[in-house]
Amino acid sequence: MSDCLFCKIVNGDITPDIVYENEAVLAFRDINPRAPTHVLVIPKKHIPTLADLADDDTQLMGEIMQAAKKIAEQEGIADSGYRTVFNCKQDAGQEVYHIHLHVLGGRPMQWPPG
Ligand code: AMP
Ligand code: ZN
Repeated sequence: MSDCLFCKIVNGDITPDIVYENEAVLAFRDINPRAPTHVLVIPKKHIPTLADLADDDTQLMGEIMQAAKKIAEQEGIADSGYRTVFNCKQDAGQEVYHIHLHVLGGRPMQWPPG
């Protein structure tokens, strides 16, 4: 997807602050962090929203969650805890239509979310 911001990051056209990468996923610091740790984990494959997941994306979604676990350890928030969020479409405030898992930590989180 040539007009997708996160595909541009996957392709190397935009260089974020990368914190983790493997064959399937890439993780980088959010440009507008909402917590001391705010990392986005994305699949290298373009999937616009959670509603667009295919049946054979199950393994890939597991890769994203496993990456979040490793990042939390790297960032030193595995023990204190952290929030993981997928925003899906308008009502959730999704801005970038390439799925991404927010990993937020380093401070207490409120519940319910706004
Ligand atoms: P969402 O609202 O769930 O779609 O989240 C999109 C996130 O992408 C926001 O938290 C933005 O701050 C973040 N973002 C947008 N552009 C960039 C970028 N170039 N590098 C890193 N994060 C970005
Ligand atoms: Zn994309």
